[in-house]
Amino acid sequence: MKERIYELILERRYFRISDITEELWKEYGEIFPRYFIRDKVKSFVEVMVGQGLLNVLTDYDPPIFENPIAEEDRPLEELLRKCPVCGKDFFPKRGKQDKYCSRECYYKAKYRRTQKELKKRARKYYRSNDAAATNHGKPWTEEEDRLLIENKGKLTYRQIAQKLGRTVDAVAYRARKLGITGGVK
Ligand SMILES: [Zn+2]
Repeated sequence: MKERIYELILERRYFRISDITEELWKEYGEIFPRYFIRDKVKSFVEVMVGQGLLNVLTDYDPPIFENPIAEEDRPLEELLRKCPVCGKDFFPKRGKQDKYCSRECYYKAKYRRTQKELKKRARKYYRSNDAAATNHGKPWTEEEDRLLIENKGKLTYRQIAQKLGRTVDAVAYRARKLGITGGVK
């Protein structure tokens, strides 16, 4: 396995312990457990660092190792990627899947997506009876205004809209005009 570790390091100008471990895991995963492979890589890299064959870039966590005699000699800046959540440049782990700099940013992005989706669904729900708004566009009658005022705080805009055959937006707008926005749900 040592030879293979060395080959993999030679291919890369920049790498992390996990990058080499993942590659080896694909090849030796059926024979050795992951922690065993990782330990092998780690001790091999430590020896190379001790011999001055690899540089350690300590600005990153986990650390990135630089191999000055690698086949690939693209600068690190070209390999870095920008995290869409925190804007930090980071060294991606597993090709294209690795969109975020950290697990934390990944979960933040996921949470934001969920919130957006919930808002969209709520909006869709409130608009869902708009197609049936038969009184849409007609001027408001006194009766309708009274119903709106009387149900202040008791019914939602959607429920009032359904009663009046109007859209949710129209009800909200009318409530604002009548100055009763505060208490109405
Ligand atoms: Zn981030």
